[in-house]
Amino acid sequence: MYDVEEIRKQFPILQREVYGKPLVYLDNGATTQKPLCVLNAMQEEYLNVNANVHRGVHYLSQQATELHEGARETVRRFINARSTSEIVFTRGTTEALNLVAASFVDEMMQPGDEVIISTMEHHSNIVPWQLQAAKKGIAVRVIPMHDDGTLDMEAYAQLFNERTRLVSVCHVSNVLGTVNPVEELVRIAHENDVPVMIDGAQSAPHRYVDVQQMDCDFFAFSGHKMYGPTGVGVLYGKEEWLDRLPPYQGGGEMIESVTFEKTVFQSLPFKFEAGTPDYIATTGLAKAIDFLDEIGINCIYEHESELLKYCHERLQEIEDVRIFGQAKEKDAVVSFLVGDIHHLDMGTLLDRLGIAVRTGHHCAQPLMERLGISGTVRASFALYNTKAEIDVFIEAMKRVVGMF
Ligand code: PLP
Repeated sequence: MYDVEEIRKQFPILQREVYGKPLVYLDNGATTQKPLCVLNAMQEEYLNVNANVHRGVHYLSQQATELHEGARETVRRFINARSTSEIVFTRGTTEALNLVAASFVDEMMQPGDEVIISTMEHHSNIVPWQLQAAKKGIAVRVIPMHDDGTLDMEAYAQLFNERTRLVSVCHVSNVLGTVNPVEELVRIAHENDVPVMIDGAQSAPHRYVDVQQMDCDFFAFSGHKMYGPTGVGVLYGKEEWLDRLPPYQGGGEMIESVTFEKTVFQSLPFKFEAGTPDYIATTGLAKAIDFLDEIGINCIYEHESELLKYCHERLQEIEDVRIFGQAKEKDAVVSFLVGDIHHLDMGTLLDRLGIAVRTGHHCAQPLMERLGISGTVRASFALYNTKAEIDVFIEAMKRVVGMF
């Protein structure tokens, strides 16, 4: 039994009002709210354990290290990686993507080599490649998209040539909700001896992720989009790849020994973790994963799929509504426009009625260009949203549309 009311008790913020109206929080694609268990675990560590990890022989440092390394094991289990050596803590998806872009291009690519991304990427999976393109003269190729928001897989297969070195695509689009066929994307790339990076920022919170089954070479996600704290994320990389890549940043924690002549780097995953990690946040992330596990990621998936279906159905009651993203495989995101009402006006008026949605280009301007629009209104769901909230949202939309 999925007891959403019981789950909501873990999120006091959901009880608050804005402008005297009950809050309906539908901006979960941007960030999710945090349950008490995550906040308590972080506070408990600050209050009773706090000490820098890895370096101390003293009790607190060892206890903090155990929590931090225990969190790494929790993450490993969550995505079914082979070993904790394959789990690198980062500040988030963006940093994980920048790490791979910098290190992979540096070591594995020559001027004229190519990386494949897709039309529906978040800026964080576009700009890092462009920065490398400017530095090293690599080329960025783009998988085109069909009108329903699915990737053109035939065109994808045609993009490979002897200069292709890497594919980097999102698992789930933050705008369209499209769930990309990652296993197929990986299979085709591997047939061409090309590794694949998957941006899992919008999939890890919503659906079961098994990196071994996916067979991707790299996978990234952010803690704050899955009920964990801000400032922590994960880069998964197959050991064989991480071993070959140079460090991304230098500093403490990532070295075995240093002289003025030469530095020997630490083993994996520490080679990629320069400086003091946010060990309080990794504890929070592990707690968030425990929280997801307790509810069951498949139950969450079913709950959110029902919300998505219900929202799609009810949106049809609104005249002139255009929904962007009609893929059969779609996660809990609905982007839309109504008639010629500007997305910003719609978002601002919905806000006055207590409803938090996102408006604008959603950090995906090239996708907006492909769709021929400047932005959308986006409602994105989480495990604590309810059909009753969608009812409030739809009624509010009707009011707003009535004003125009
Ligand atoms: N990739 C996708 C698909 C996203 O939706 C986001 C954030 O919205 C990111 C990457 C960047 O995540 P972060 O800002 O947590 O690094």
